Amino acid sequence: MKIRYFDHAATTPVREEVIKEMLPYFGVEYGNPSTMYSLGRNAKRAINNSRKQVARTLNSKTREIYFTSCGSESDNLAIKGFAYANKDKGNHIITSKIEHHAVLDTCKTLERQGFRVTYLNVDKNGFINLQELANAINEDTILISIMFANNEIGTIEPMEEIGLIAKKNNIVFHTDAVQAIGNIKINVQKLNIDMLSLSGHKFYAPKGVGALYVREGIEIEKIQDGGEQEDNKRAGTENVAEIVGLGKAIELIYNEYDEYNKKLKTLRDYFISEAKKRLDGIRINGDLEKRLPGNANISFENIIGGELLFRLDENGICASAGSACSTSNPMPSHVLTAIGVEARLAENTLRVSFGMDNKKEDVDYLLDKLEGIINTNM
Ligand SMILES: *Cc1c(COP(=O)(O)O)cnc(C)c1O
Repeated sequence: MKIRYFDHAATTPVREEVIKEMLPYFGVEYGNPSTMYSLGRNAKRAINNSRKQVARTLNSKTREIYFTSCGSESDNLAIKGFAYANKDKGNHIITSKIEHHAVLDTCKTLERQGFRVTYLNVDKNGFINLQELANAINEDTILISIMFANNEIGTIEPMEEIGLIAKKNNIVFHTDAVQAIGNIKINVQKLNIDMLSLSGHKFYAPKGVGALYVREGIEIEKIQDGGEQEDNKRAGTENVAEIVGLGKAIELIYNEYDEYNKKLKTLRDYFISEAKKRLDGIRINGDLEKRLPGNANISFENIIGGELLFRLDENGICASAGSACSTSNPMPSHVLTAIGVEARLAENTLRVSFGMDNKKEDVDYLLDKLEGIINTNM
């Protein structure tokens, strides 16, 4: 059966051009970038080329980009690394209730180590309240970490306003932009972003490589000890091939942002408007405007989420309940809970996330199957 993939927020396939770019670094170009001879220098040069590609996309300096093993590690390094290096300045961190667990659980760990964390509420569409943010700031506040766009409901947070509040109060601003980076052109200067996490496998590079932008002058402490790779911020021999892949993938996306965005938005808007017409008992979650272009999140009155996913899978359709990271966790999604979706509905929720490989006929197939499953299930 043909697989139809609507789960690009969980991961994306690796693009052909990206695979091609990586291949030499699995083969002939196997040098260790820390070595002095030309084979090693080739690898080092390839990494620095990727660094340039990432920096150009974010409008940062090349030396402000550090490669990591994933988005989760970037979040850990940004938040723990910053907290440890700056604990003499204060011990208070502000984040939101709808962050990815890579941020939430990092904050929980820091709380056990004596830091204090404020978890901001969000409204029914998933937006933080800027006044609540401003009110939460005190003289011990050293860091604000608010995600760029939510991985479950797609809501895009008011980055520019948060950046201004952080700047005005002389507080460092980190954002988990793992979902945003493939979809939205981000200028860290314009938005006053001081640290930003991203992950290759959400924009058609492989799993197992990420990056962290840290504005020059901001101190972060290493959280993994060993060698002095990545300007002594992240020990461990670099994943050269995948770093090359990440650089290529971000460069390709950079040149296609407008077109890609439009394509996803067209598919998504078509899907949502047809779903409203054809499916009984649904609720669309998240804001309809300030939302990732490829994201749709729907709760169903008439079917159990697990059963729906199972029956979609029988028809070759890949989609997620809430978020992929929570599929082994029986608790209703913390994001849906935070926006006020009742537990029963939260459990019966489908996240559809479109990508560059989807076509209108795939969306029609998805709608037909959903209609068959939902409307005959009453
Ligand atoms: C996927 C994701 C992560 C984790 O990235 P990994 O590379 O899978 O560790 C973090 N934050 C958000 C918002 C994500 O969507």
